[in-house]
Amino acid sequence: MDSTVSGAATGGAPLEVFLREYLDRTGGAWDEVEPQVYDVALPEGTDPPPGRDRDGGGLRLTFDPEALPEHPAAQLASFGTPLVDRLLADALRRGRAGRFYFVGLNLRPHDLLGRVRRSVRVAAATIQIEHVRALHFPQVVFWFQAAFVSDQKEQIILPVAVDLHYGREVRHRDELLAPARLAEHPAPPLPPARAASLASGYRLARAQILRSATALANTRGRELTERCDLQIARLTQYYTDLRDELDEQKRRSKSADAAARHAERVSALEREHQVRATELRNKSVLHVDLRLLQLLRIEQPKLLVRTTLAAEGGAPARLDVVWDPLTDALEAVACPHCGTPSYDFTMNRFGQIGCAACPVSTGAKPPRR
Ligand SMILES: [Zn+2]
Repeated sequence: MDSTVSGAATGGAPLEVFLREYLDRTGGAWDEVEPQVYDVALPEGTDPPPGRDRDGGGLRLTFDPEALPEHPAAQLASFGTPLVDRLLADALRRGRAGRFYFVGLNLRPHDLLGRVRRSVRVAAATIQIEHVRALHFPQVVFWFQAAFVSDQKEQIILPVAVDLHYGREVRHRDELLAPARLAEHPAPPLPPARAASLASGYRLARAQILRSATALANTRGRELTERCDLQIARLTQYYTDLRDELDEQKRRSKSADAAARHAERVSALEREHQVRATELRNKSVLHVDLRLLQLLRIEQPKLLVRTTLAAEGGAPARLDVVWDPLTDALEAVACPHCGTPSYDFTMNRFGQIGCAACPVSTGAKPPRR
């Protein structure tokens, strides 16, 4: 976004804008000596490109080939030159992991109690709100790259977003990535919510992506097998025709010499057939390469709502629920007993809560858990 703005303001070409931003953000320095000619200092830790070094450290660059005769010590900066390739790769490496704060959310929803009561049902209990805390809930978007390589190569970017608080996938990824709502600093600053580690979020994301990539690979594998079978059928037909021709030649010429030559040719043909069929099969093996390209951690304000559940003649209980102001909805609540996300719970007279997957016992004695 910044690059578009400054690019428009100065009229610089994208690569020139990139160079200035790259140096500004990485601790390098630049000075525009004349239009499209720069003296630059690369960020610390970056090796200067070999040769043409100007009094140690500094480097003169030009984006204009016509400026080179006037600046013989300058390097031409264009796509594909080693220097620019290295700066682009370095910028990509630095951008592999980012962190933003989601801003501009309404943290005071109207009638929160009514919304909670309409969203979550706890049979036999009345829900009250004990307290509400606004916290930063971390969510991480991972971008994986899947490469499918056979007789052709195809690359697909597969994104997946994970909520580190509940440890599950986030469906509304696009809303989360709204560029206008992401800021480098929190507004307002909030304490962090309880959350799993980034590593466990990565494991979850990878498992999810493996499922998607496997489905994609299976489809491609099937198409590849079909294409390969068809090619092999054509190949077999081709060699059958050749063989028929040889047989016909043998019938016409009746010499003993011809019979021997025929046998030789047939076996040569058979070998060639096998070699070409094997080649086709080898080319039709699908290799899948999966790698993590980038990740972005987004700290999003949500409301942690502690509710109390009271049932007539029974023990009360507590249930923490999360209100997401971005989707304007209550998130599915992890069952306190089994962890299954649900909106539908039951509570027994001992104040134990269960979901449809783990119904609570209503027996006379408190069940042991
Ligand atoms: Zn449960």
